[in-house]
This record gives sequence, C-alpha cells and structure tokens, in this order.
Amino acid sequence: MKWSEISLKTLRENPADAEMESHRLLVRGGFVKKLAPGIFSYGFFLLRSIRKFENLLREELSQAGCHEILMPMVQPASLWKESGRWPKMTELLKFKNKNNHDFCLGATHEEAVVDFIRNDIKSYRDLPQSVYQIQTKYRDEIRPRFGLMRGREFIMKDAYTFDLDREGALASYERLKEAYNNIFKRLGVDFTVVKADSGAIGGDLSNEFQVLAENGMDEILLCDSCSYSANAEAAPLVLPENTSVWTDVDLEKFETPNLKSIEDLSKALKTPASQLVKTFFVKFQNEKDKWKEACLILPGDREVNLIKAKAVVGATGEVIPLTDEEVLKATGASPGSCGPVDLKMPVYMDKALKFLNSFIVGANQDGYHLKNVVPGRDFNIEDEADLSQVGAGDPCPECGKKLKLSRGIEVGHIFYLGQKYSKSMNLQYLDDNGKSQFVEMGCYGIGVTRTIQAIIEQNHDDNGICWPTSIAPFHIHICLLDPEDEGLSQWVEVYKNSMQKMGFEVFIDDRKERPGIKFKDADLLGFPLRVVAGKRSFENDEVELFVRSTQNKLKFPLDQALSESKKILEGLGE
Ligand code: ATP
Ligand code: MG
Repeated sequence: MKWSEISLKTLRENPADAEMESHRLLVRGGFVKKLAPGIFSYGFFLLRSIRKFENLLREELSQAGCHEILMPMVQPASLWKESGRWPKMTELLKFKNKNNHDFCLGATHEEAVVDFIRNDIKSYRDLPQSVYQIQTKYRDEIRPRFGLMRGREFIMKDAYTFDLDREGALASYERLKEAYNNIFKRLGVDFTVVKADSGAIGGDLSNEFQVLAENGMDEILLCDSCSYSANAEAAPLVLPENTSVWTDVDLEKFETPNLKSIEDLSKALKTPASQLVKTFFVKFQNEKDKWKEACLILPGDREVNLIKAKAVVGATGEVIPLTDEEVLKATGASPGSCGPVDLKMPVYMDKALKFLNSFIVGANQDGYHLKNVVPGRDFNIEDEADLSQVGAGDPCPECGKKLKLSRGIEVGHIFYLGQKYSKSMNLQYLDDNGKSQFVEMGCYGIGVTRTIQAIIEQNHDDNGICWPTSIAPFHIHICLLDPEDEGLSQWVEVYKNSMQKMGFEVFIDDRKERPGIKFKDADLLGFPLRVVAGKRSFENDEVELFVRSTQNKLKFPLDQALSESKKILEGLGE
C-alpha cells in the first residue's frame, strides 16, 4: 500500500473529546473516525489489525475445538422474552419493524446460540459442542467513552460451549481459559487473569482477562504472597471472626446540626470514620419484577459494592441508589441524618460492623443522630452480609496478607453458565437412560476492538503507537524521502517485493512531503520497522533501519537491507 493511493490525513492536534492516550492516537493516526457517540468507522490500518487479530483468534479457537458460525445481529424480542432478559437488559437497543414486531440488536448472543443449536441436540451423542463467532455487537451504553474501549457498536468474539454435565462444562471452561491465555500471550500484551463477577450474563464461575494499564477502567486486587487476583468488584471482604459485645446502654438522640457527611460527624465527635455507620439506600426489582427499597449499613470508612448488594438483596436487575428526594420520602429526613431505626424497609448490615459495640446513626430527623444503637434491639436486621468494596491494604481472602491495587482493562471474560439458559430456553437432551437432561453451558467473550486499543494503551510513547508485530497493520513503513528519484524508487520497489515474498507487509510513504513530516507520521502510525530511503544515502550505498519500539537506528549497505530487516522483524517476535 502506498500513502498516495489512500485518503489518509493524520492530525497534529489531539481531539478534544479523547481522554485516553490510546484514543487520541487512534484518532490522530486516522485509525478510527467517529460517526456518532460510541460508533466508529474503522480506517484502512485499523481494519488490517482487526483482521489479523481475528485470524489469531480463529487459529487458537479452532485448536481448542471450537467451530465458527455467524449469528444475526438483528434478533426478535421473542427469544429474549423466552430467556427473561427482554425487560432486564438495559443496554438492548430495541426497535419495531414494519409489521410492528419487536426486535433488538444483539448485545450478546446466548439466546441466539441456544436457538441455533437446540433443534440439533437430541441425545447425549450430540454433545459436547463448541461454537464461536466474530460479530458486531451493539450495546446502548449510557456513557460511551475512551473511543473503542467503551463503544456502543464494537466487535466481539464470542464462544459458547455445550456439555452433558457440570464436569464436562468445567473441562470446557478450562480448555477455553487455556486458549485465552495463548491468545493474549501471542498478542504480546501484559495481562493478568482475575476472578470476576458474572454480571448480567449469569452463572457462578467467571474469570476476566485484564490488560494492565494505569488508566484502565477496572480496579484489580492482587496478592504478592499467594497468587490471588480478582476484580475489586468481585473480591470478598474476609475479616477475622468477631462478635460484638453490644452495649446495654439505652439509645439516645442528640443534636447534630449541619453535620451532613461521615467526615463532618467524625470531626465533630472526634471518632474515626471506621467507628461510625454509613447508611445507604437502594431500589431494585425482585423476582416478581416489583420495585423494592432497602437500607444498607456499613462502616463509615467503606464504600458500598452494588454488585455484592445485588446478590444480597435478591435483585434481578441493577441495584440503583435512591436520589435525595427518594431518601427524604422514605425516611422523612435528608441524607446525612438518616439511619436504620424505625424504617419501613429491610436493613442489611455489613459484617464488618460486628467490630463495634454500638452504633451512631442518623435519627431520620434532620439535624439529629442516635447513639448507643444496637442492632436487633433497636432495629431489625434482614441479613448480615458482605456489602463493602475491598481495596488496597485489605486482607487477601486466601492468605490474609495485604492486597495491592492495580488498574486494568477488561479484554476478555469467561463464564460457566450451568443451566441458566438451557432451563429458560428448554435446551435438553436424552441421556443414556432415555431421561431428559438440561445442557450445561459456558460462554466466553473477547472484545476485539477494545483489546486493540488496550494494546495501544500499553504500547505507545510520546510520539505515537508502538505496534507489537502480531497485529501491526504493516510490518514495515518506508519513508521514501525523494519519490521523484527513479533509481531510489526502483530500489524501494524491489525491496518491497522481496520483503513481501518473505511474508512481511510493507507500507510506503511516497507523498511529496518534507522528511520531518514523514518521520513524525511514521512515529505516530507506529509500524514496527521503519526504512528511511533517501536519495543522498542511496547514492552512498546506505539505508537506515529504525526500530519503532526501541528507537534503535541502524545503517547498512543497500545489499544487506533485506537480510537485516528480516533479522530485526524476526527478533521482534510473532
Ligand atoms: P464492561 O464491564 O466493560 O462493561 P462487560 O463485562 O459488560 O464489559 P462482557 O459481557 O463480559 O462485557 O463482554 C465480553 C467482552 O466484550 C468484554 O470483556 C470486553 O472486552 C468487550 N466489551 C464489552 N462491552 C464493550 C463495549 N461497550 N465496548 C467495547 N468492548 C466491549
Ligand atoms: Mg465482562
């Protein structure tokens, strides 16, 4: 490919709406063009990376015994109603066709894949099965941001396994986990596998593949002493067993004018936040799709983990914090003066509160608090549970040593689903006794476009991208400094053809631009090896090779250019 043949203009200025370096570089290099928020066109170069990544995925998944299919992006509501997710998945983009029938765009394909396979699975002889696809997904994300990281339309590779029993499904899970490890290793990216929450997809065993990055959207907890690693939203807070010795002093109301936050209260009462009680109100839908409210109490220095809360309160969808007006309506007081005593909703207590002997809580009357409050005596507890977000310094749930906090980008997510979808969508087989059994499933996603941006986030410098060879749009970028010089252009042509014959891909910047501009653009685009071909050095029988990632500059006689280029590229890995 030659620059003069394509309509590519790079940008010197950073786009105003890009908060992440990888997003800025993607825009400045013309890799992506925004069509609407969260919706992008993929340019010449990015598409080549996507295709390479897809082929790597195909190789590894086929090794893992998965077979490729392609399911529709447009799906009928009936399938989603069958699984029960039609009213619950807030990211579905729903619409009607001309006949007034409900449809949505595929946000994920569990429903579609069950429908694809269910008529073909009759007996135990038809299992196990594993399929995958590489397809565009649409999720109506509330806040698309960071370019391809959180898009509305994006490419995902999703695989699904179908097994006879739990044992088989867990073996499939391990097989796919291994394939994922191979995929991210081959990409040449620094990643870690963490325990995860299974979110809207369901199931009870789940891991995420996280690319480590300072600006990552996810918090990851790692233990240096053992190998524990988890997404912070999924890490349990494991504290030593403790039972409070509750005070027998009567509760007492006292004035706290203008004390609205835990911080205010802590200062005024000269009591550390950890000894105070934070009250948090949420609403959610239960199994009968009824809206309910609940009160969560936890130590004043801890944050609520709404994902844990979801399981604790038995919500079927998202758990949503109450607004200030809703709190006022439910308690008669403004947030800051609310507490668990005399509430008309269930109260869930964080286990970490069992280290106190009595509570100081809001009195549900503006400007007042209560002290010497004892759970069970002064208010009812619906349940004691783990409701807190775990952070740096908290004990590792496995070895008890202190956890460290890192940031990452979730690029892959695998789930053991069990019978969640086979039950709701009636995917059964006859076992060897002729008895009907539900199929055991797993599902496995990799965000293709997100992973590519995550790789850029990890592999760039101040001047631009440093593509790993595995998915670089081209291996070689020739800066042809004097395109009108016939001898030089001919040499470049021969070099290009010979490198291509060896399997390397070559891009030629043949624009009539100054060398400085060409070098800046080559830095920005970031292909692994740059060849600087100028008239003067050509006449001196010399060519410059420049390694983008190390900035290493080497000069060779022209007849060594091919062999040295090959050596360098092979040294850079796949
Ligand atoms: P997140 O927590 O980041 O919203 P998710 O857990 O909802 O993601 P999954 O349902 O696990 O996502 O999807 C599988 C993979 O698809 C993710 O690991 C991620 O790489 C990718 N992905 C999910 N949502 C997006 C998005 N909005 N834009 C780009 N890629 C995405
Ligand atoms: Mg996920």
